[in-house]
Amino acid sequence: MAKQIILVPDIGDYSDVPVIEVLIKVGDVIEKEQPLLVLESDKATMEVPADAAGTILSISVKAGDKVGKGSVVAEIEVGAATAPQVTATAAAPAPMPPPVAAPVISAPIAGQYSGKVDHECEVLVLGAGPGGYSAAFRSADLGMSTILIERYSTLGGVCLNVGCIPSKALLHTTAVMDEVKTMSKHGISYGAPKIEIDQLRGYKNSVIAKLTGGLAGMAKARKVTVVRGLGRFLDANHVEVELTQGDGQDLTGQKEVIRFQKAIIAAGSQPVKLPFLPEDSRIVDSTGALLLKSIPKRMLVIGGGIIGLEMATVYSTLGSRIDIAEMMDGLMAGADRDLEKVWEKFNAGRFEKIMLKTRASKAEVKADGIAVSFEGEGAPTEPQTYDLVLVAVGRTPNGKKIDAAAAGVVVDERGFVPVDNQMRTNVNHIFAIGDIVGQPMLAHKAVHEGHVAAEVAAGEKSYFDAKQIPSVAYTDPEVAWAGLTEEQCKAKGIAYEKGLFPWAASGRAIANGRDEGFTKLIFDATSKRIIGGGIVGTHAGDLIGEVCLAIEMGADAVDIGKTIHPHPTLGESVGLAAEAALGHCTDLPPVKKK
Ligand code: FAD
Repeated sequence: MAKQIILVPDIGDYSDVPVIEVLIKVGDVIEKEQPLLVLESDKATMEVPADAAGTILSISVKAGDKVGKGSVVAEIEVGAATAPQVTATAAAPAPMPPPVAAPVISAPIAGQYSGKVDHECEVLVLGAGPGGYSAAFRSADLGMSTILIERYSTLGGVCLNVGCIPSKALLHTTAVMDEVKTMSKHGISYGAPKIEIDQLRGYKNSVIAKLTGGLAGMAKARKVTVVRGLGRFLDANHVEVELTQGDGQDLTGQKEVIRFQKAIIAAGSQPVKLPFLPEDSRIVDSTGALLLKSIPKRMLVIGGGIIGLEMATVYSTLGSRIDIAEMMDGLMAGADRDLEKVWEKFNAGRFEKIMLKTRASKAEVKADGIAVSFEGEGAPTEPQTYDLVLVAVGRTPNGKKIDAAAAGVVVDERGFVPVDNQMRTNVNHIFAIGDIVGQPMLAHKAVHEGHVAAEVAAGEKSYFDAKQIPSVAYTDPEVAWAGLTEEQCKAKGIAYEKGLFPWAASGRAIANGRDEGFTKLIFDATSKRIIGGGIVGTHAGDLIGEVCLAIEMGADAVDIGKTIHPHPTLGESVGLAAEAALGHCTDLPPVKKK
């Protein structure tokens, strides 16, 4: 028997990635390809698989450590008895056709149900978030009888009810509040704002109600049957639904069984909890923060990713003094640093403390607040007391909560459902989409996947082969990026050229009094086609759409630069950045001749 060291393999664009979970212990018998660690950056969660089978002799990493390619994970004894391999591991999912099989970890044996059936359909969709309702509506549009199961009273899932939409309703309000403050420089002065928090909450709720009500109407118009309750698989063709009522998930005590020909799992994700935090109404996740119960005097945001920063923006404008604690060495992971730096400079002074390389390590419930202790480079020496603590450290998939094994569907250690590039699970007629299949956990990815799954279920040759999935931080200024970042190009060794247009030269940005941003386009140095882009500035999230289209269409700098953009707009900065890449942007100083 020989000893072997297991190293972190090439994990693409990432280095210094925090370990969030160690899945093995000394003495475990592991199989080749078995996940050993879970790493999580803001952009992606990835598992580090074993490159050999054997028995774990020692483990060199723990949760919280940072690793990169070549870091030692563990020492194993190879040749020792290995766990029985149930099924072979197929190729990993690829973004482009032809079809690629879902990685089969260890397929469970499906159950056999032969009891009563209350409903039958061609397509059953489990979960009515953006992925689920889009899949259900597309299925119905393609002529298939469709049932949509949702445990809550409204459709729309996290995004419409407790995510994208309510956060943007509040961000819009606070952005206007911030902008109004700057009007005194234009000679227009307003008094201090009076915040009616019940009314603000009511506005946010009305936005949600308008959208979720619209979805209910569209489901009806398409003859999609919505069954309200908690669904779980009984076998590969039956789901049992425990009917629910009220605003939450109160069970009625009744159950219904649905027989389906095909199913699309769209059960989404939930916020990650930090185990050391006590139960207290002053410690909340993003859903709790969006309830906007009150405006805390002092607030801690644990996690400097997009969700944490968006909520910190809202609460700081409403008047809270905010500290942010982030384990990594920068905020808004995934974005190029030059974009993030503009946000950081613009927001200097907005927050009390931004504590990088720092983690909250302990929390004590006290009458006057939550006393939080910190560890790391930016840690204050004394515990700090807060009126509200927001935990925004990521989201975890709901894969382990739907009895997928009864249908023979594989769910991995973390609760993700592996799929191929047609969104099929290891069971041919069962698909999975959205947050439950992996990163990035974003609504627009879920919707696109939902359409693919429905089309494949209808027999169409559809694939998830997107060249880019954009990310947006709807902060002030907004930060948006699509395709490859510069940091990813460098990590992958891709030769690139870039064109950058500073908004200090944009007539519209200057007229708006917001010229701190820039637009950057990244081109492949060989093909000259655009492969990425980033924008920081007001409305960057809306502007990035043109970059997304250009990447998907394989445009080059001439295509983009010679497209006539309307003047004066922020959007023309995309065309001007392309001209800058070509070296002849007449809105910028001349390029020095060599
Ligand atoms: P979900 O939206 O999670 O929906 C899953 C649905 O399944 C839920 O309605 C759930 O109740 C239901 N369900 C689960 N299990 C069962 C069961 N057993 N039986 C019945 N029903 C079940 N993304 C963006 O793209 N842009 C943003 O600006 C953005 N902002 C966000 C802000 C916040 C605060 C948060 C938390 C998230 C944000 N996201 C944003 C992420 C986005 O909300 C998710 O990526 C998206 O909702 C995922 O869609 P989904 O369909 O996969 O799942």
